[in-house]
Amino acid sequence: ALVAAARDEDLAEATVTGRAEPWPNDPYPAGSDVSARYASLRALLAGRMSADSVVATLEASGLRGMGGAGFPTGKKWGLVASAEPGSVKYAICNADESEPGTFKDRQILTDQPHLVIEGLLLGMAVTGAEQGWIFIRHEYGPEERVLRAEIAVLREAGVIGANACGSGRRLDLDIFVSPGGYILGEETALLECMEGHRGEPRNKPPFPGNYGLHGRPTLINSVETFADVPVILQRGAEWWAGQGEGDSVGWKFFAVSGHVENPGVYCVPMGTTVRALIDLAGGVPGGARVGAVQPGGASSNFIGPDKLDLALDFGTLAEAGTMLGSGALVVLAEGTDLLAAATNVLRFFRNESCGKCVPCRVGSTKAHEVLRGVLDSGSATLDHQQKGRILQLEETMRKTSICGLGQVALGPVVSVLGLDKGGAAARPQPRPEGSTEQPDR
Ligand code: NAD
Ligand code: SF4
Repeated sequence: ALVAAARDEDLAEATVTGRAEPWPNDPYPAGSDVSARYASLRALLAGRMSADSVVATLEASGLRGMGGAGFPTGKKWGLVASAEPGSVKYAICNADESEPGTFKDRQILTDQPHLVIEGLLLGMAVTGAEQGWIFIRHEYGPEERVLRAEIAVLREAGVIGANACGSGRRLDLDIFVSPGGYILGEETALLECMEGHRGEPRNKPPFPGNYGLHGRPTLINSVETFADVPVILQRGAEWWAGQGEGDSVGWKFFAVSGHVENPGVYCVPMGTTVRALIDLAGGVPGGARVGAVQPGGASSNFIGPDKLDLALDFGTLAEAGTMLGSGALVVLAEGTDLLAAATNVLRFFRNESCGKCVPCRVGSTKAHEVLRGVLDSGSATLDHQQKGRILQLEETMRKTSICGLGQVALGPVVSVLGLDKGGAAARPQPRPEGSTEQPDR
């Protein structure tokens, strides 16, 4: 009860101010109200646009899932639309953003609740779902308040409800507040949680598109993915594809943090280089050089300063051995203790492991023990045996863990072993007080 009261207080007192200028993925003029917004939804419900054409436009646009994995959005919508036609289905917006360094969805929810909700409603109408949910991280109280206010406006205006936009179709929305825990952002753990079970990932396949909430076909996309749909439907697939740099398509939100002058959320053309985004965030303080970058959140491998001209794009980063992931660019200045930073990341995954499968539960603990021992000894590098142990654990966890958490938990550590020269050589010996490792061991 105390927690609930504290949360209610937080919701009541929080003030959320949106951005004055629309972000480039917003097709509606600044300050426009519900009568001007939701134009694509109205067109679809009035029959001026077909569900098939929405799927075709999304496929042609090249839009991919912005939650991290980059699954083609049009393909996913088409799969859910064709699964068990006429049966009960659901759609869920995954707003349980919890990857360390990732806070772009929070900004999108604040500034563009109308786009997130229109995208979700479009997904419902296209796939045949009547009930939609926004599953939101429990610490996102102010953003929850913004969403609830927008939903109330929509209900009042008749955009949602038993007769959505006068179409005779029922479209309804609700918010599900996560009880807390990083793993609940994994889509199948999220489903288990919503069903009232312990929040542990399911084996995939079957994917939620076929077997989702209560076993029904369920469309799940992230906040940013849904928010990009309205502009694509209004300006066309070609327009979206033309927004990226080079062969990349569309706009991309990034949360930039770490050693930069101006950490924050930036929206740039997909395909912008790592270097350009760091410059946009003001560069490394004091003119220091970049030591390493995690381009896609805690799950992504570190890259060195020789890779700053890489394009921020799903394919390019995957080819370079890392990933775009959750759109969180973490910058570490030259001289930063990379092994300690990567061990921090591993410690997070060890702590957040749900414990369902042995490789992740035991492997993350064992690997952390090895690394902790190295850090505590003040040694600059892992010896042959320690390195072999880490590589073996990484391979086992990557190949045998049920979900992404265990599969990627040791990736950043291994990537740092490859980059050892900058960080380890710069690591003072013995280790000083105030290391980046936190007291929770
Ligand atoms: P995944 O590749 O298993 O799935 C991606 C999406 O595509 C899912 O919705 C899945 O249902 C769908 N899908 C995949 N194959 C399919 C198929 N054959 N048929 C139908 N649907 C299919 O990836 P994942 O484990 O869901 O996500 C991993 C990503 O999540 C990582 O890249 C990581 O960056 C990201 N992540 C993000 C956060 C965050 O806070 N935003 C946190 C942790 C991880
Ligand atoms: Fe749970 Fe880890 Fe297994 Fe994922 S990999 S199901 S987090 S134990």
